[in-house]
Amino acid sequence: MNHQQIIHIHFKVILLIMIFLSISTIYAQTQQRMWNGKQYAVTLTYDDGLDVHLDNVVPVLDTLNFKATFYVPGKSKSLKNRLEDWKNLAKKHEIGNHTLFHPCRSKSGKRAWVVPEYDLDRYTMSQILNELSVANTLLSAIDGKTERTFAYTCGDTTVSDSCFVNNIKEDFLAARGTHKGLNHIRDLDLYNIRVYTVNGQTAEKLLDIVNQAKEEMAWVVFLFHGVGGGHSYNISLEAHNKLLNHLKKNEDEVWVASFIDVVKLLKENKNTN
Ligand SMILES: [Zn+2]
Repeated sequence: MNHQQIIHIHFKVILLIMIFLSISTIYAQTQQRMWNGKQYAVTLTYDDGLDVHLDNVVPVLDTLNFKATFYVPGKSKSLKNRLEDWKNLAKKHEIGNHTLFHPCRSKSGKRAWVVPEYDLDRYTMSQILNELSVANTLLSAIDGKTERTFAYTCGDTTVSDSCFVNNIKEDFLAARGTHKGLNHIRDLDLYNIRVYTVNGQTAEKLLDIVNQAKEEMAWVVFLFHGVGGGHSYNISLEAHNKLLNHLKKNEDEVWVASFIDVVKLLKENKNTN
């Protein structure tokens, strides 16, 4: 091998190393910025259509300019009594489907409070699908939207002995479950998105979860009911606002978005990758 050939091989090796390094740098940068240009994502979801959502939550969200998701069952008293307020909320935020009558499983879910007529263990498949369809029509009448996400009531995904997850895929872009955990791009189940249910935690505990999402470049979905009262599952308004202020302060690294906006981005990325 002459001198020129050796230089040629060296050049090729260096070129290959450079190509490898730039590909891995681009890959690492993409990984770090995969949530709409941010490192991680947070979605704030509020369940059951409560007055405190209108009175305590929306003012804070609007001040901080955050978009959140409200899963409102058709039977919500607040929806009935303050329809105009909910219509206003829907101009900025997402309203998601949470059924009409909030049915849950009684026996299999060990919930004594479930009344027989709204016991998912007694529902038929067509009953739940019809209920979800009518709930979508109701919500469209409120916000004019045709794309919708769903939150399983009590996290239940079955009626009598059949799972209805596959039967709702045409009507919903995604569904929020109640299993605890972060959502990573590598193992996402769009029809059973994991959550952290908020009930009595301190702000520090919630910030630990946010920091974990940052470390793992993941998507965390918080599930709130009462905020400063309004439900037996509750968080103090102070702790809630501390969490939101922390997110605002760290907006350069965290994407705070409604459930449907995150889902749409994930679907777009899937199509383009
Ligand atoms: Zn609920």
